[in-house]
Amino acid sequence: MGRPNILFIMSDDHAAQAMSCYGSRINETPNIDRIAQDGMIFHNCFCTNSICTPSRANILTGQYSHRNGVKTLADKFDGRNPHVAKMLQLDGYQTAMIGKWHLGHGGVYDPTGFDYWNVLPGQGLYHNPELIDKDGPKVYDGYVTDIITDLSLAWLKDRDADRPFFLMCHHKAPHRPWDPDEKHMHLYEDLDIPEPETFNDDYANRSNAAKEAKMRIDRDLNARDLKIEPPEGLTGQALKKWKYQRYIKDYLRCVASIDDNVGRLLDYLDEEGLTDDTLVIYTSDQGFFLGEHGWYDKRFMYEESLRMPFAVRYPREIQPGSSCDAIALNVDFAETFLDYAGLPIPGDMQGNSLRPLFNGETPEGWQTSLYYRYWMHLAHHYVCAHYGVRTHRYKLIYYYGEALGATGSVDEPKTPEWELFDLQSDPLEMKNVYDEPAYADVVKTLKEELYRLKKEVGDDE
Ligand code: CA
Repeated sequence: MGRPNILFIMSDDHAAQAMSCYGSRINETPNIDRIAQDGMIFHNCFCTNSICTPSRANILTGQYSHRNGVKTLADKFDGRNPHVAKMLQLDGYQTAMIGKWHLGHGGVYDPTGFDYWNVLPGQGLYHNPELIDKDGPKVYDGYVTDIITDLSLAWLKDRDADRPFFLMCHHKAPHRPWDPDEKHMHLYEDLDIPEPETFNDDYANRSNAAKEAKMRIDRDLNARDLKIEPPEGLTGQALKKWKYQRYIKDYLRCVASIDDNVGRLLDYLDEEGLTDDTLVIYTSDQGFFLGEHGWYDKRFMYEESLRMPFAVRYPREIQPGSSCDAIALNVDFAETFLDYAGLPIPGDMQGNSLRPLFNGETPEGWQTSLYYRYWMHLAHHYVCAHYGVRTHRYKLIYYYGEALGATGSVDEPKTPEWELFDLQSDPLEMKNVYDEPAYADVVKTLKEELYRLKKEVGDDE
């Protein structure tokens, strides 16, 4: 057995709460579940900066945002820098990047390290999207999720079967504005999707950062998001409920199309006899609020936004139906790929290969805490910049109240504030216990851990 193929399927803003292998109350994802059932599901996989562009750079480089320079949506990734696809390509892997790139394009920002790339400009469109390859832009007829899968299948069919492949298949969906395809347009039409428990959160005793964020279902969804006018006379809670149904149904319709298309890729591997020799991953660039805390969007270090869905299948090593509770991070992915390729890990990568976890072993000294930082102070949804630490039990967040020159940030100072959540007694993060005397020792310990992590990852200037 040589080195495995790697099929990395990543969607955009697909939260674990909307995957049946994570116990979704609101939808079914039978094809994504196939990966989990025949492989392993991670319950504690997290991003280190919950927003599209930075997470993509974290994944490619194996570095935190302050190190690879892609801290915000306004930053781009300079293709002259080293990253995992380049290393795999140099070592004989056939490499492709198809779909949402979102790290800039043109000149030094075009994808590098890929034998073939064909990417959406910026966010791209759901219907009849333009994609850009090395020869320039071209408009494709159809629905973006189908097209990205068609292009992925076409590339797989044309590949050299004697060499392993590394395919990054990156979907645009289910990113805002959640435009479904024809096939799923009427899905869920006759039923009500349940609202999450924290739907009517009033943010009492939480930070001003939470109170002031502009990502509320009842107030901040716009006409483009909702697509039709609300029924006349609807107000207050009834209107909020109506908006949630509009939002969540379109979101889930986009997810249903992704699930179908994941199935097409898995079927292809089965038909070609490639299943045993291919490491398949399904993930998303971060999580998303699906009405929790009354919100849509991401950015915050709160659970729904921080958590990445992560299912992996590789029959030669991974026990079917297994799960992992160890902490995994998006900066760990690159080293995992290099590990499977048998390549050395560059000294400036900052993660850890997940391969031992895939094999059911948690190495001694494995990470039991993570460092998070969101840089884009008050941009778009008025979320304050913050950093923090999460352990298996606690989460400490510091909203430092300044833009600090981060690209695309808004230079409007805020009073710094802290939040502490005890995830054991309060998994839904409804009660900030930072000021409670009973937690004084926890605060002290976590602050030490936070500053230890900041130093370790090099974000301590
Ligand atoms: Ca995203």
